[in-house]
Amino acid sequence: MIESKILDGKLVSKTLETAVRNRVYEYEEAYGEEVTLATIIVGNDKASKTYVNMKSKACRRVGIYTREYFLPQFTTEGLISLIEVLNEDPSVNGILIQHPLPKNIDEKKCFDKIALEKDVDGLSSHSFGKMAFGEEAFGAATPTGIMHILDFYHIDVSGKKACVVGRSPILGKPMAAMLLNRNATVTICHTKTQNLEDEIKSADIVIGAVGKPELIKKDWLKEGAVVIDAGYNYINGKPVGDIENPTSVASLYTPVPGGVGPVTIATLLTNTITAAEKQKQLDKNKNYTEKQYIKEVNK
Ligand code: NAP
Repeated sequence: MIESKILDGKLVSKTLETAVRNRVYEYEEAYGEEVTLATIIVGNDKASKTYVNMKSKACRRVGIYTREYFLPQFTTEGLISLIEVLNEDPSVNGILIQHPLPKNIDEKKCFDKIALEKDVDGLSSHSFGKMAFGEEAFGAATPTGIMHILDFYHIDVSGKKACVVGRSPILGKPMAAMLLNRNATVTICHTKTQNLEDEIKSADIVIGAVGKPELIKKDWLKEGAVVIDAGYNYINGKPVGDIENPTSVASLYTPVPGGVGPVTIATLLTNTITAAEKQKQLDKNKNYTEKQYIKEVNK
């Protein structure tokens, strides 16, 4: 038995939010403009509405404006047109499409239309590819948030064995790529994995990204493992993660609730202010280049 410590997602998110609030204030002072996130919900999913409300509330806390699109019935073509308009709109700094989308929408086609510099939720293949190559791009918010938690608590993953359970494009796969970029030795598990328990037993870091309540048992964990639970499920109306409470086995772990969830939202805010700042930098570079060009041709 070991003494387990909690990785406090609320504390990490508060720290991130404070930094965002200061940066938003400085941005508004410098440019006289607001920072704006466009949020899009398609369909009538109750959970999606709750998540977007939570994100909008967090935006208000740090001074980011939201432009909300609630589209109960919509087509792939309609959504693509809206994304194209938002891509071109200089007053919109970030675009968030809440997932999952209804079955009639070609999700991937829509995500891939989001401009790289506004893809603050890291949903497009372009963002994913650049992130996986270690290039500058926004990673998906939840795995990026998990990296924020690891950084906040100075957890070095280099050379460690990490086991990511789940391989979705928004969570498991980008998570594995981010850990690999930090030199962890990564195993990705899924429904066809044989001996899940053995894979988990050998890992120094375990990430639950499954969406099955307490699928991963406490006694599957290696003693002293760092345990990160991205799952959010319910048992008898009570929120639980994908991993059984690992107290006295894990060295460090994220609780559910109060672990990964709040940091995901704070990461979205961080990405939005970063997007706004970078867009201004791009504009400045563009103007500079144009000025330089005019100077050159007039010589
Ligand atoms: P998803 O798209 O349904 O993917 C689930 C993954 O888990 C799949 O790769 C699936 O494998 C794997 N899986 C399912 N059952 C398994 C089993 N018995 N053994 C091994 N692997 C299994 O889900 P997601 O969108 O990634 O979300 C996963 C969880 O994270 C959910 O609880 C969700 O609520 C939570 N989440 C939280 C946040 C946050 O902000 N905290 C954000 C996003 C998601 P296959 O590929 O083989 O089907």
